[in-house]
Amino acid sequence: DRIAAVDTGDKGVHAFLHVDAEGALVQAQASDERRAAGAASHALDGVPIAVKDVLTTAGLPTTCGSKILEGWIPPYDATVVGRLKAAGLPILGKTNMDEFAMGSSTEHSAYGPTRNPWDLDRIPGGSGGGSAAAVAAFEAPLALGTDTGGSIRQPGAVTGTVGVKPTYGSVSRYGLVALANSLDQVGPVTRTVLDSALLHELIGGHDPLDSTSTTAPVTGLVDAARQGAAGDLAGLKVGVIKELAGDGWQPGVMQRFQESVDLLTKLGADVVEVSTPSFVHAMAAYYLILPAEASSNLAKFDAMRYGLRVTPDGSPSAEDVMKATRDAGFGDEVKRRIILGTYALSSGYYDAYYGQAQKIRTLIIEDFNRAYADVDVLVSPTAPTTAFKLGEKLDDPIAMYLNDLATIPANLAGVPGISVPSGLAPEDGLPVGFQILAPVLEDARLYRVGAALE
Ligand code: GLN
Repeated sequence: DRIAAVDTGDKGVHAFLHVDAEGALVQAQASDERRAAGAASHALDGVPIAVKDVLTTAGLPTTCGSKILEGWIPPYDATVVGRLKAAGLPILGKTNMDEFAMGSSTEHSAYGPTRNPWDLDRIPGGSGGGSAAAVAAFEAPLALGTDTGGSIRQPGAVTGTVGVKPTYGSVSRYGLVALANSLDQVGPVTRTVLDSALLHELIGGHDPLDSTSTTAPVTGLVDAARQGAAGDLAGLKVGVIKELAGDGWQPGVMQRFQESVDLLTKLGADVVEVSTPSFVHAMAAYYLILPAEASSNLAKFDAMRYGLRVTPDGSPSAEDVMKATRDAGFGDEVKRRIILGTYALSSGYYDAYYGQAQKIRTLIIEDFNRAYADVDVLVSPTAPTTAFKLGEKLDDPIAMYLNDLATIPANLAGVPGISVPSGLAPEDGLPVGFQILAPVLEDARLYRVGAALE
């Protein structure tokens, strides 16, 4: 009912691309019966969840926000979706996103933008704006997102929700339609840090169907959140990232960030400034590595295997069909990145572009390692500004890309990160996000610090 009330119409939030009310009610009823029989096995049994439309759901459409997958119904569940179902969480439906998860505003969805529930004329962040808006608008208590360069954390920041990018490889990517395999991670979108911890433990852990899946158990997150909520950070060393502040950062964002840092000090943490000099090159490296991997991944949309097929008049060749389908099925941002990636990988340019970008990636990992030798967690604002107006950055790809300045380094290094709400910016009354980053497989630290700030 809540979805029906706020999600549709001209000024609706439009967080959902597909709602499965009937399926969710059947799952909810089964959960009620388990609870009545005292047989509910998981804390989240019966708690409904929304799933980003880049994760496969057996029997439910999966479009990745693209026309090229319109009408495609996957025959199998992503591993994470299977885990949700096994624990008894009713799946409410699929959430809107920038096409193939390319974007920071959800305006690149082929099915129209999602609106920020805090101000319907503003963007909800991206690419997972649908999942964040669904949670922020009380359409769903929980959602799944995916984060390749910030698509869980940045929407979390601008909608006042909690968003977590787990350690690379610690949550299965099987059934996640890949954007950039070396960067992608699935993670929770929730209203509270404890909810994220519960969901993260449920979806995390080894999956033999994902060749990059880590074998380390994903445990201790709920305990860490409870410890943090008790408000004691004595002995914790926190590094404030020097490079992720200053010129170009909205004053109200910096003000709320500083207040949160002061709160960490008050709770007993030892706060120092840390320099990560290679972070200034993270964006440039990311926008070579990501398009390179994405252009390769998107080659499978060849008009033969999935979704859309456009057949030109006459007696078209297979190549004509492929061209017409891709022309009609891919949006401008996707085409831009396919061209960039194909160029960067072309013979003769590989060393100059992709090779250089990989070297920067190594420098960024070294920056993290150096920092974590001295501190337990790193912190920064999640995004440089609060939610901007719909349309404001749509014609300026670089301005759009800059939203992920603070979130991209974590993806390049594989380290985990969380964005937690940090109040409202005084100049516009819009939510601000506080980002916490931890070393690989130390996701529990995110929850301890995040819950202390709540
Ligand atoms: N906004 C970034 C991009 O456009 C991040 C995307 C993501 O995390 N999926 O690539």
